Amino acid sequence: MKLSLIVPCYNEAENVAAFEDAVIKAFEGCGYDYEIVFVNDGSRDATLHNLRKLHAQQKCPVKVVSFSRNFGKEAGLYAGLQYASGDYLSLIDADLQQRPEIVRDMVRMLDEQPDLDVVAAYQDRRNEGKILSFFKKSFYSIINKLSNVEIKPDASDFRTFRRSVAESMLELSEYHRFSKGIFAWIGYNTDYIPYTACERHAGKTKWSFTKLMNYAIDGIIGFSTAPLRLATYTGMITSVAAAIYLLAVVLQKLIWGIDVPGYATIIVLILLLGGIQLFCIGIIGEYVGRTFEQSKNRPIYIPKEILTYEENV
Ligand code: UDP
Ligand code: MG
Repeated sequence: MKLSLIVPCYNEAENVAAFEDAVIKAFEGCGYDYEIVFVNDGSRDATLHNLRKLHAQQKCPVKVVSFSRNFGKEAGLYAGLQYASGDYLSLIDADLQQRPEIVRDMVRMLDEQPDLDVVAAYQDRRNEGKILSFFKKSFYSIINKLSNVEIKPDASDFRTFRRSVAESMLELSEYHRFSKGIFAWIGYNTDYIPYTACERHAGKTKWSFTKLMNYAIDGIIGFSTAPLRLATYTGMITSVAAAIYLLAVVLQKLIWGIDVPGYATIIVLILLLGGIQLFCIGIIGEYVGRTFEQSKNRPIYIPKEILTYEENV
C-alpha cells in the first residue's frame, strides 16, 4: 500500500523542509510506503529552490511539479492528483496548519472500513475573526440552498481518499474548480473527523478577503444555476408589478380624470428597473463568461518543471 501526500505550495519557502520533516516523523514505522508530491504554484520566493533541494536529497520519496506561473490552489491540487501514484491520496497544506499525524488516523480509518472512500477533516474550532466566520457560514447556507450538492459546512480540502475517488476528481476537468463542490458532486462514502488548525509554521495566508469572495462566487456559479432563475423571477415580478401600476394609472386618468404628477415616480422606476436589469445581466454574464472560459479549452495549469523518482512498481 502506498500513500501520496499532495501539497500545493505558493511562497512557502520556509515551510517545505519543515513540512517534509514533520511527515517523516509522523509516518515513522507506519508500515506502508508514502511519497510527497509538492506542487509549486508559481512561487516568487525560494520555494522552488528549496523543493529542488528536497528532491535531490530524497529523505523520503519526493516529486515536484512546478508551474510556469501562479494558477491557484485548485490547479495545484489537480496537478497533484495527476502525478500522485499512491493507492491512497491525501490533500494537505504546506504550512503545517494541518498536521500529518491526522493523515495517519485517516489512513487507519480507510483501512478499517472497506466501505469508506473519503475521510475529510473539518475544523471544530475556528481561530478567525467573527466577520470572516459569519461570511463563511452564510456562504455554506447559500450554496447548500441553491445547489443540489450537499456541502458540509467547515469541511476543508484536507482529505484522504482512495485512488478511485482521485480518478473521478480528475474526470471533472472543468476550468473553474471548486474542490469542495466537486467532492460533493462525485459522491462516495465520506466520513468526517474534527481537527483544529494549528498556527501557520511561517509566512502569511495567501487568501485575501476578495480572493475568498471570488472563490465563493466560483463555488455557487459552478454548482448551481439558481441565480439565473432568480433573474427570471425578478424579471417576472417587476413586469407584473409594472402592468398593475400601468392599469392603475390609466384607470385614474379615464375614470376620475386625475392627472398624476409623475416626475418622481418615473425617476424612481427608471432607476429601479435599470438596477434590476444590470443585476440580471451581471448574473447572466457570470455564466456566459465561464462558458467562454471553458470553451477555450485551455489547460488548467502549465507545468514548467517536473522532478520525479524511479518508482519500482
Ligand atoms: N496555495 C497555492 N496557491 C495559491 C494560494 C495558496 O498553492 O494561489 C497553497 C498554500 O501554499 C498552502 C495552501 O494552498 O499550502 C493553503 O493556503 P493558505 O495556508 O494561505 O490558506 P489558509 O490556510 O489561510 O486558508
Ligand atoms: Mg494555511
